[in-house]
Amino acid sequence: MVVGVLVQIASQNVDRIFDYLVPKELEDSIRIGIRVLVPFGKQTIEGFVLEIKDTSSMELKEIYSVVDYDIILNDELLLLGKEIQRDTLSTLISAYQVMLPKALKAKVGAKVNKKFHTFYRLIDKDYVGSNVPQKEVLSLFQQRDEVPRKELISISSSAVSTLEKKGILKSIQKEDYRMKYEVSQYTKKVLTSSQQKVVDAVIHDTSNNPFLLYGVTGSGKTEVYMHIIEHVLKEGKTAILLVPEISLTPQMVEQFSNRFGNQIAALHSALSEGEKYDEWRRIARGEANIVIGARSAIFAPLKNIGVIIMDEEHSDSYKQGDKNPRYHARDIAIWRGKYHHAPVLFGSATPSLESMARAQKGVYRLLTLEERVNGKQLPEVQIIDMNHEAKNSSSHITSQLLTELHHCLDRGEQAILFLNRRGFSTFITCKNCAEVIKCPNCDITLTYHKSNRMLRCHYCGYATPLPKVCPNCGEDSLSDLGVGTEKIEEELNHLIPTARVLRMDVDTTSRKGAHKRMIEAFRNHEYDILLGTQIVAKGLDFSLVTLVGVINADTSLNIPDFRSSENTFSLLSQVAGRSGRSQKSGKVLIQTFNPDHYAISYVRHHDYLGFYREEMQIRRKLGYPPFYYLCYLKISGKDSQYIFQEALKIKRSLERNLSYTAILGPTSLAVFKVNNIYRYGIILKYKKEDGLRDVLHKIQNHYKSNRKIQIDIDFNPSHF
Ligand code: ADP
Ligand code: ZN
Repeated sequence: MVVGVLVQIASQNVDRIFDYLVPKELEDSIRIGIRVLVPFGKQTIEGFVLEIKDTSSMELKEIYSVVDYDIILNDELLLLGKEIQRDTLSTLISAYQVMLPKALKAKVGAKVNKKFHTFYRLIDKDYVGSNVPQKEVLSLFQQRDEVPRKELISISSSAVSTLEKKGILKSIQKEDYRMKYEVSQYTKKVLTSSQQKVVDAVIHDTSNNPFLLYGVTGSGKTEVYMHIIEHVLKEGKTAILLVPEISLTPQMVEQFSNRFGNQIAALHSALSEGEKYDEWRRIARGEANIVIGARSAIFAPLKNIGVIIMDEEHSDSYKQGDKNPRYHARDIAIWRGKYHHAPVLFGSATPSLESMARAQKGVYRLLTLEERVNGKQLPEVQIIDMNHEAKNSSSHITSQLLTELHHCLDRGEQAILFLNRRGFSTFITCKNCAEVIKCPNCDITLTYHKSNRMLRCHYCGYATPLPKVCPNCGEDSLSDLGVGTEKIEEELNHLIPTARVLRMDVDTTSRKGAHKRMIEAFRNHEYDILLGTQIVAKGLDFSLVTLVGVINADTSLNIPDFRSSENTFSLLSQVAGRSGRSQKSGKVLIQTFNPDHYAISYVRHHDYLGFYREEMQIRRKLGYPPFYYLCYLKISGKDSQYIFQEALKIKRSLERNLSYTAILGPTSLAVFKVNNIYRYGIILKYKKEDGLRDVLHKIQNHYKSNRKIQIDIDFNPSHF
């Protein structure tokens, strides 16, 4: 027996099938899609069996062993990998690797032990703990009888060992999965008639075109998802629910866990490799039927999929842009939906322009939820013009916002303050006149390059030194805006000393479980104000929150990207949507230096469709998506001269071979040098160019053994 093996080395050079002989005693274990260990040059390496043949004429080496007896890549994933390779021009092996938890990728595999785990059991239930770490450790036993050692020692290993010595905790070895979901008190809601319509459309679907669910914030999309999934399970099928970043939406997992218990598996970045591996195996073995997870969960090895739902479909976290394969989960969802004849549902309060345009053309079917569940109005939005405010005070919290905060807290309600960190401090503004320095050739903010104090346009390559004074008002007040959550927290403590402020950002939530504990604390009204970055923008549903304040709406507006208006509109709409979700009416205050900017006006009127129409006109005029496709080529290497010359050659070759594509660049990237690697970018704009992938593939091939240059290709980049 001979097998064709794809080795786990992500290089274009060896991205093909190599034949190996199978020793007689291993023949029975060989199946397509399993991992085997093979000799490769001087190394020993893991690979996937992709072909089984009877004979081969060549002298072949033998495989060493079979790594696992379960099939890792089933028929569907094998096909899908090839599609991804074709579509993104990545290596086949990286297309397969992206589908798998790290534990199943080369080398790491052996380290993750799947048999036994140490758990602790609480023996003395009355012991309260003699210091803070001990108390924190013990608090994990409030809901559970047994807690994995890993989780406990992440809080304090010395507290754990002290508690064990005292006999308060007892360790046990268990053969078990690491994650547990328990069904708990859950009252199923009766759907409103508009919710029911959406559910019906999806579950009675026969046409296999994706649905776009445009539902305002608080319109009960989550409840709709749960009803659809419940129906799908009743039919004996399975479901995938994608969320942008699951560790930011613990409430979603909690709701699903309460309702569906151990039928769910959650895949996300906050899990340890071992936990991910466990979840993956539960899915592969058919023990979990609902997968909830971030981008890569779209590859979950579920069989018999009955629905694929993508919540917050506009989120750019669904696009893998930083490494191969540069895929969009939306495309994978559509592919898998077709494969399983399952409906695909994209949901958002602010659908991406691409998706809404498709819905308008009838490629997607549009479903809408125009009102909040309780019939409540969307919150009133007020815009605060910082151009007046900033002159009078150096505070980041305006007097209007402060007054509203006082009112809110006096009523015994809660507030969320949002600090927009998107595109933070890469652009320059004048503190005196609020001038933002723009490119003379493009409608784009210049990006500030600290290293050489230059302002640069990322689209056309225009560059100019940072001026000493503001070109508009002549004052020496140019600055890269910079303010962090800590600063705002200080200000709040000073302005409202009695307010209990909970600061949530990457620093305060880095410890495992911290994020969830903070959300709980805020829900229990242990705090009055939740202050945070993007972390507080999405998905949170607190009934006491009646005020949302946006400290700085502008940072995301000034990002040099054609999507900056769209991203700002959707971010602000999402944040605004946290206010007034329950019985009490909500208010939103947005502080901005651009009160007249259309993205901000449309947020004020909760007018997604208005924004959509205006933004579409701009995109058409400038030739951007969804009217044109973009493809981004990144050309990098150590020798900047050489790289630039090659980038020019590539450009010329593209010009010769492509007829309908505009080719822009090469220009240096915002961060030109990273780890001594220089980077140039070429942007391709096209409506239809059938031979494009072939042409690019040839270029890739031409350079594949050239170590001085690397070429990354990104179709439909989410940003540059
Ligand atoms: P969205 O995801 O659209 O912003 P959610 O799904 O979070 O909205 O729903 C908003 C709130 O309305 C939640 O508190 C949810 O529990 C509640 N809700 C949803 N559907 C119903 C319903 N049919 N009846 C009563 N309450 C509902
Ligand atoms: Zn420019």
